[in-house]
Amino acid sequence: MQTQIKEITKESLKEAKKIIENGGVVAIPTETVYGLGGDAFNDTAVKNIFEIKGRPSNNPLIAHVHKDYDLSKITDYDPPYAKKLREAFLPGPLTLVYPSTGKVSPLVSCGLNTLAVRVPSHEGAQAFLRAVEIPIVAPSANVSRHVSPTSAEHVFDDLGGKIPLILDGGECQGGIESTVCDCTGEYPVILRSGLVTREMIEKVVGTCGEYTPDLKSGEKVKSPGVLYKHYAPRCKTMLFSAKNAKNAKNAISAYIAENLENKGVAVLCEEKRMEEFEKAGAKVLNLGKNQAEMAMRLYKLLREAEKLCELLIVVEPEETGGIMAGVLNRLRKACTSEDVK
Ligand code: AMP
Ligand code: MG
Repeated sequence: MQTQIKEITKESLKEAKKIIENGGVVAIPTETVYGLGGDAFNDTAVKNIFEIKGRPSNNPLIAHVHKDYDLSKITDYDPPYAKKLREAFLPGPLTLVYPSTGKVSPLVSCGLNTLAVRVPSHEGAQAFLRAVEIPIVAPSANVSRHVSPTSAEHVFDDLGGKIPLILDGGECQGGIESTVCDCTGEYPVILRSGLVTREMIEKVVGTCGEYTPDLKSGEKVKSPGVLYKHYAPRCKTMLFSAKNAKNAKNAISAYIAENLENKGVAVLCEEKRMEEFEKAGAKVLNLGKNQAEMAMRLYKLLREAEKLCELLIVVEPEETGGIMAGVLNRLRKACTSEDVK
């Protein structure tokens, strides 16, 4: 199959709509990362998305809708705090999980009785969602477990030949996936951290929990996505905390001593640390100097790293609050070797 990359115009939206109506898939830009979209009501389309990505069959999908879509068509209960969250943050990078009416394909939520819904703020995504007028499930448009895509080229690198159309809406400004927040209980609980932070949610609704699965208890995990190796570049990785940066330098020296004739070692770190690692002899990828910049650059740099080096040494930024919770979560997953068992 030939994959076309097209700017978002009336014509390309028409074409995208036709593909979706025929049960096909289209890659779309959002303010977080690019998504691989298909009709949430259509079993075949949803099945195809799992197959094309190689996504584990128990990792549920998020339904994307335009900002005036009538939520009561797909969700069954709407707690007052969810309304407050929608008013404060939507359209934007916050996904809310509600009890489901069960109207979308059962494959979307992988057997859970809930449905995750997101209203992206990206103009191109809104235009596409208005054109199709149905909920579109859209996981990140990458091969499962690989780094998420923040440009049309990234999508092409992973899925070229497997999908007919990529709508090109430029580089994603947010850079990491949406915050996923469970709205089925008394107060909201963050299942996946992202650009809308716990601090921001607490300001609006008072209480906000954070979910960490207790894997030993045997309970059913609320957000299966947390179990998988994710966002990983195709090179070896080593992760060091900010406090352990000295050990990162030792690792560079050890690598250089043993490997004289290969693609070498690179370091991914925040801007203020660049110089010390350059002195240590590594190529340095600059994650940035503030939280928003680090989120926006993260995936692009992980994709650059896999082309540039054999070993990527990641040194965590010092800050941990706000958006950094999401950035650190992605960095740590990108550097783990295996799925959680
Ligand atoms: P992705 O589409 O790759 O950004 O991943 C979607 C994320 O949302 C994963 O972490 C899923 O586990 C999570 N998710 C989707 N639907 C639900 C749901 N109904 N309940 C809990 N988590 C969900
Ligand atoms: Mg993903």
